[in-house]
Amino acid sequence: MSHSLARDAGARAFAAVALVPAIPGKDLLTYQVPETERARVQPGVRVLVPIGRRHETGIVVELSDTPPPGVTTIRAIADVLDDEAILTPDLFALSRWTADYYVTTLADVLAAALPGGLRASTARVARLALPSAEAPPLRGLEAALVSRLATAGPASVRALARTLADRRVDAAVRALAARGVIVVEEQLRAPAAKARLETVLELARPLGDDERRVLEHRAPRQHALYERIAAAPGCRVDASALNRSARSAATGLLRRGTLVSVRRERYRDGATSAPVAPLAPPTLTSAQRLAVDAIAEQTSFQVVLLHGVTGSGKTEVYLQAATRAHARGRSVLFLVPEIALTHQLVTRVRQRFGSGVAVLHSDLGPGERWDEWRRVARGEARIVVGARSAVFAPIANLGLVVVDEEHDAAYKQDEGLRYNARDLAIVRAKLAGVTAILGSATPSVESYQQALDGKYRLLTLPQRVEGRPLPTVEVLDLRTLAPVTPTAPPGPPTRRQRSAAVVHPAVPGQRDDARPSMLLSAPLLAAIGETLARREQVLLFLNRRGFARALQCLGCGEPAGCPSCSVSLTLHERRQVLLCHHCGFARAARSPCSACGRDALRAAVEGTERIEQEVGAYFPSARVGRLDRDTTSSRGAQRRILEAWETGALDILIGTQMVAKGHDVHAVTLVGVLLADVALNLPDFRAAERAFQLLTQVAGRAGRGALAGRVLIQTYRPEHHSLLAATTHDYAAFAPRELALRKELGYPPFSRLVVLRFEGVDAERTERAALELARHARALDGSVAIRGPAPAPLERIRNRYRWQLLLTSRSVQALHRSVRHLLTTWRTTRGARATRLVVDVDPVSML
Ligand code: ADP
Ligand code: ZN
Repeated sequence: MSHSLARDAGARAFAAVALVPAIPGKDLLTYQVPETERARVQPGVRVLVPIGRRHETGIVVELSDTPPPGVTTIRAIADVLDDEAILTPDLFALSRWTADYYVTTLADVLAAALPGGLRASTARVARLALPSAEAPPLRGLEAALVSRLATAGPASVRALARTLADRRVDAAVRALAARGVIVVEEQLRAPAAKARLETVLELARPLGDDERRVLEHRAPRQHALYERIAAAPGCRVDASALNRSARSAATGLLRRGTLVSVRRERYRDGATSAPVAPLAPPTLTSAQRLAVDAIAEQTSFQVVLLHGVTGSGKTEVYLQAATRAHARGRSVLFLVPEIALTHQLVTRVRQRFGSGVAVLHSDLGPGERWDEWRRVARGEARIVVGARSAVFAPIANLGLVVVDEEHDAAYKQDEGLRYNARDLAIVRAKLAGVTAILGSATPSVESYQQALDGKYRLLTLPQRVEGRPLPTVEVLDLRTLAPVTPTAPPGPPTRRQRSAAVVHPAVPGQRDDARPSMLLSAPLLAAIGETLARREQVLLFLNRRGFARALQCLGCGEPAGCPSCSVSLTLHERRQVLLCHHCGFARAARSPCSACGRDALRAAVEGTERIEQEVGAYFPSARVGRLDRDTTSSRGAQRRILEAWETGALDILIGTQMVAKGHDVHAVTLVGVLLADVALNLPDFRAAERAFQLLTQVAGRAGRGALAGRVLIQTYRPEHHSLLAATTHDYAAFAPRELALRKELGYPPFSRLVVLRFEGVDAERTERAALELARHARALDGSVAIRGPAPAPLERIRNRYRWQLLLTSRSVQALHRSVRHLLTTWRTTRGARATRLVVDVDPVSML
């Protein structure tokens, strides 16, 4: 397969190829372009290339006339899989930017950018060469291999290695093949995502009246088919829809030249099929009109931060801005945090743009996803709605980018390529020279600071549409409503004990399920009762994502925090310490509260399931639903519960984060936040911001219709600035306070952050590897500050220990330089052998 370079050198003779999936640590590989394929091989097409003893799929990135220096033999491309490029030039540009910014390879970015299932690959398949009777006597692994092939038939070498669970399978296969006992062949496996073709019969020429009469007389079946096709939309029918007699009639008409048969691509019934009745846009409010005009008047790159309270009509602004871009023949990229939770929004987009909408979501099969991708690439769908990976959709002629709920952490991919789709959306808009709208009721303080600096244009929608009031928000102080009692009362609770809500789990992990929930306080229960009596709906929210191991004083509310990093400490059960996972500060787990001196540090957590049971007991005639990870693990369950909620088939919905987003249900008039502290005490410097966003968003679920809404927030920290600002829906009060704190501590947006995370199966080696690289990091130039290393808050995931090192700097360039330098150093250290190093640029979750 190798060729000498001198012979084959010539124009476009070499291709730099990115393998999909990428080989860790390797970027582009160079291959020869066979003479006969020079016309087809262009950047963006898929090719099959040899790598080691197998073949893999790759994407051609660029062509050149000369081989890379120092390389003497280069293997040839084995096959070309596409006739047209599946990646556009601007996607290459975006991918290059991404690889550079997130300190990774272009191959890694392309692998993440492309829809799954595009891989063709080969497998080495082994079969017996001789009838087993003639096989020479074999022992051990070789005997096991041969007997396996004799009983189960041919199998791929990979599958054999898996079933026999022996690392020496590969060598044994080679030895047996060398002796002629077995034969190993390479077989091509087709990619999972392929275009689906159909045969269509089209009218080649219309018949005149005379011809039709003759046809009717001589061949009535052919005549009937002719009339059917002539009457069909586009004068064509799908050949597979014809019965046998019609098919034979078609053969006759094809022979006469009346029909032609065409093979063409047919899209699967993915998201595109469900028809939606069109809905005319409402007349804009004056604030909305100002926003839409401001967006439309600029014809070059700009970022607009659209800050509008919940229900202020931001979505309508996106839709009308999109309508204008669409009318100019341009395409629109519309990013949402999670498709499954935003089907109302998808419906609204469809109502406006009909079948010209492509929805990219994770539920699509590889074939459907491929079809949507092709519809977008061909410009047949010019409105593209999707979650974060849609930022890589092959949109041509981009005219507008919208990022709804721009503050949402879901935009950050937290595995593999750790990109933030909101930030890439801005880069995409910049590359295309168009407007990016970032919309939110609670903008991230990063985006808000950009607006204050004049880099983003700030547009605000200060009021709800049609003068609907924002809900009233009240804070319920659990310190007085639920005073600390370290032990449970004996026996089942009486009604009076319940309504006083006086009980607590004493120590994490020692909960007594017979106790009533401490999270249903008397005022909250009273409010639920009143709401149900008015036949309105109640939403109860319990934040559970994150973290049960942050402790707080249930006497005064103060969380156990790090004195230098201003984050919550986390309980490490093994060592019985409270630990700062930024800097490593530690104190004893059983220690008095540093603010009030009481021995009342606790984790105040409860499960949604338990809340559901108790709510059911208090309100036996209410229809109660629960939405969390447990109730939505089956496909479609989430949709069913939300539909019941939206149609009023449920009176009370209890849920986690999933209920906070986007639902516009008009009969919801009471929202109860069961424990705001879970969010406030998250061991993350963004905890206060996340809490404010979450509370504002949950509160925004109340009173969206004609009825006024009421929100009750239960907490042990009623004076926290996030809570106070949330009660008055006052972003303008929250942001300056939060920004001042960030500035003081040197956190974003006043610095850039990179986390280096060390993951390994051995606790000590992982720690040593982290300490070693930290020493190298401290020796770097002074423009980058180093914190840690320290164990990650989630100290162990899937059997891997996790340590982290924090790098901060005001200069992105300095940060990038240091990270690259450290990566090079890392490869030479002993730690690299047993430990994985993950680079997270602009980390969002610090857990
Ligand atoms: P947001 O995205 O800011 O939460 P929406 O765009 O969803 O707000 O608007 C809230 C509600 O008000 C929706 O039911 C929407 O249909 C309606 N709405 C939006 N703009 C207008 C308008 N100009 N006139 C009447 N109703 C509107
Ligand atoms: Zn610290």
